[in-house]
Amino acid sequence: MPDLAERLLAWYDRHARRLPWRVPPDNRAVGERADPYRVWLSEVMLQQTTVAAVKSYFAAFVARWPTVHDLAAAPEAEVMKAWAGLGYYSRARNMKAAADLVAARGGRFPATLAGLMDLPGVGGYTAAAIAAIAFDEPVAVVDGNVERVIARLFAIGTPVPAAKEAIRAHQSRLTPRERPGDYAQAMMDLGATICTPKRPACALCPLRDDCRAFADGDPDRYPVKAAKAERPTRRGHAFVAVRSDGAVLLRRRAPEGLLGGMTEVPGSDWPDKSGTGQGAPPLAGEWREAPAPVVHVFTHFRLELTVHRAEFSVAATAPSGHWWSPPEELPGEALPSVMKKAIEAAVPGATKKRR
Ligand code: SF4
Repeated sequence: MPDLAERLLAWYDRHARRLPWRVPPDNRAVGERADPYRVWLSEVMLQQTTVAAVKSYFAAFVARWPTVHDLAAAPEAEVMKAWAGLGYYSRARNMKAAADLVAARGGRFPATLAGLMDLPGVGGYTAAAIAAIAFDEPVAVVDGNVERVIARLFAIGTPVPAAKEAIRAHQSRLTPRERPGDYAQAMMDLGATICTPKRPACALCPLRDDCRAFADGDPDRYPVKAAKAERPTRRGHAFVAVRSDGAVLLRRRAPEGLLGGMTEVPGSDWPDKSGTGQGAPPLAGEWREAPAPVVHVFTHFRLELTVHRAEFSVAATAPSGHWWSPPEELPGEALPSVMKKAIEAAVPGATKKRR
């Protein structure tokens, strides 16, 4: 398939998605280069998160911290607050650590795949994407979209985890030495807009003549998925203490582990064995249980949180390690989605920004 990359790039030149971190093909053609800081930031945000969800966060981050030096100079707590809602919070901590490292080295990102992989939070995929897009290194970039396109192009019948190496080898062979970054982005765009998970628009696809799944008449069959293990359910309690002025009692989670360093309402642990987490309310009061538990789905388990609410006077003192967050500050706290849900179950509208 010698001209596959060429055809894909020609398609990309006409149909590339306009994304805030991207240099469009027209600008690339007149020599504009992608800013490694913006590419890195977007790729870290896009790990496990959709383009639609990332756009506003990306815009807010680059407006507030336009360079890696600015991000390195920001207090970690502010970065965590700005990240709240994007999920997978270890990404934010690693991102801050990587920014500190790059800034300490003068602000230049490593320009090779190997160098990039030394940065905290930058794994094989992210390093390859940055190396190709920001530095034109002809390395194979394989995200979920690319995986699907390649699995269909070559009608790969092996289920995906086991097929990863074969997919990477195909992508490596197809990646051109000229414009490898645009080629990677073109593959991603094709997967996102044409070669979609369900009912791909093969009639519009520039690679149709090369595609074995299309020739076989059943592209939806690929990529073949291995049977999924069922997600277990964990159970716990959350205590939403509300003061008469609307302030809510919060505390910070331990720095390591799930949602590490993020803010939460007091609550129990969430044991992974059967049974419900044990935890006492943070203050003595008249605690009332919300009618239905809050459900949140994490990657490896589903959480059912029983929410309890109690009211207190403005004179109530926060226990050690806790603070009262007034209504105007609550929406800006580093609250992960599950905690926002718990607070909303007890105080509807409390975590939404006021206009
Ligand atoms: S022809 Fe269809 S299945 Fe094949 S790569 Fe194109 S959109 Fe995907």
